Amino acid sequence: MTVITKQNGQLKVPAQPTIPFIAGDGIGPEIWAAAQPLFDAAVTAVYGATKAVDWQPLLAGEAAFKATGEWLPQATLDALKTNLVAIKGPLTTPIGGGHRSLNVTLRQKFDLYACFRPIHYFAGTPSPLKQPEKTEMVVFRENTEDIYAGIEYAPGAASAQLRQLLAADQQLSKVRFPEESAFALKPISKSGSQRLVKSAIDYALANHLPSVTLVHKGNIMKLTEGGFKKWGYALAEQTYADQVFTWETYRRLAETDQTAADAAYQAAQQAGKLIIKDVITDNFFQQALIAPEQFSVVATPNLNGDYISDALAAQVGGIGIAPGANINYETGAAIFEATHGTAPQFVGQNKLNPTSIILSGALLFDYIGWPEVATKIRQAVAAAILQKHVTWDFATKIPGATQLSTSDFGAYLITQLS
Ligand code: NAD
Repeated sequence: MTVITKQNGQLKVPAQPTIPFIAGDGIGPEIWAAAQPLFDAAVTAVYGATKAVDWQPLLAGEAAFKATGEWLPQATLDALKTNLVAIKGPLTTPIGGGHRSLNVTLRQKFDLYACFRPIHYFAGTPSPLKQPEKTEMVVFRENTEDIYAGIEYAPGAASAQLRQLLAADQQLSKVRFPEESAFALKPISKSGSQRLVKSAIDYALANHLPSVTLVHKGNIMKLTEGGFKKWGYALAEQTYADQVFTWETYRRLAETDQTAADAAYQAAQQAGKLIIKDVITDNFFQQALIAPEQFSVVATPNLNGDYISDALAAQVGGIGIAPGANINYETGAAIFEATHGTAPQFVGQNKLNPTSIILSGALLFDYIGWPEVATKIRQAVAAAILQKHVTWDFATKIPGATQLSTSDFGAYLITQLS
């Protein structure tokens, strides 16, 4: 039995699990070639011969199209469904036409509603900030709703019915150039928002973190992003009443009695309760630079989360080092992934940083309950950066660095495992 399953709410992981991987397009095969031997060496370093991963290659993207004529073959979807946990490199998405983003398709196909992006600073990493170590956050980005539903109408005939609907609703006058406008729909639901916020709260509680911040643009998009905030607070107050204290509660108390509100807030902090707060997205971006230490876990709708997770990644070294995962905490399905794209201009140069997929692998080992392997991998990455043995992207920014190729960097990390 090599299949990872979920039974009674628990992942069941055999000693030799099959884990599918999609090496991906562009630089994907180069970073994967650096990562997989490291993963195997880390598993052996921890468990000897008692555990091992059976990596199963799957086709997707350009490689799949060349081999099968399909971008996302059914065999790949079947293997992902059977094996529950997988890892992938980047996949090409043609802009302004062609097929839909394969990443978005995978997230929607397997209902991977939480995009999990931890942001951690490794000492010695080049950063635009003076104190990058203060940026220590975990972003939970909603992955299945919002503008990413991909419902768009071109100007003219395609949007005619929508314009009629808006006219009947007295909304069309709000559109400055109605005939010329393309339209997009932004579905955000109570269930979609609450299951994402639940993931963030569960994570914060399990890891004893101080706060969850709902980042939203509800001042403008009152029913969609405002709904996300409202439903998030409602979930926190209804489901976690004994464990959390919300800014919503604070504001309600303060309306009648400021002193009582302050006292309640202080008492909650002293009792170690998880603080649930909110901030408007534009303010979040400036606060995240000026005072990042005020944020811990962040929960946010899809588009905000896309921007936020890359911006925060830049604060601690960039997308070349930022790990990520797409998870359905109910079914257990999870795809861990490099957060950067295919970097087409660097293909075949064996030059870029494989750390994003390597740290995503560490997240995968945490997820399947092999945390010692994850720790070993992170320690190796930390050691290599401290010793200034890095790939080109960091070497050009660290005085006195030794520049390693993608493959040599992977091999160097293996030497740092013991
Ligand atoms: P990109 O991430 O491929 O590259 C942007 C820049 O980031 C690169 O020029 C490079 O300077 C830097 N970079 C990327 N990966 C790096 C690494 N491993 N190490 C160091 N630096 C790195 O983004 P793009 O150029 O906007 O997109 C190229 C293609 O990738 C597009 O087809 C896009 O749709 C796709 N894409 C895929 C994913 C995914 O599969 N998850 C994510 C983003 C973009």
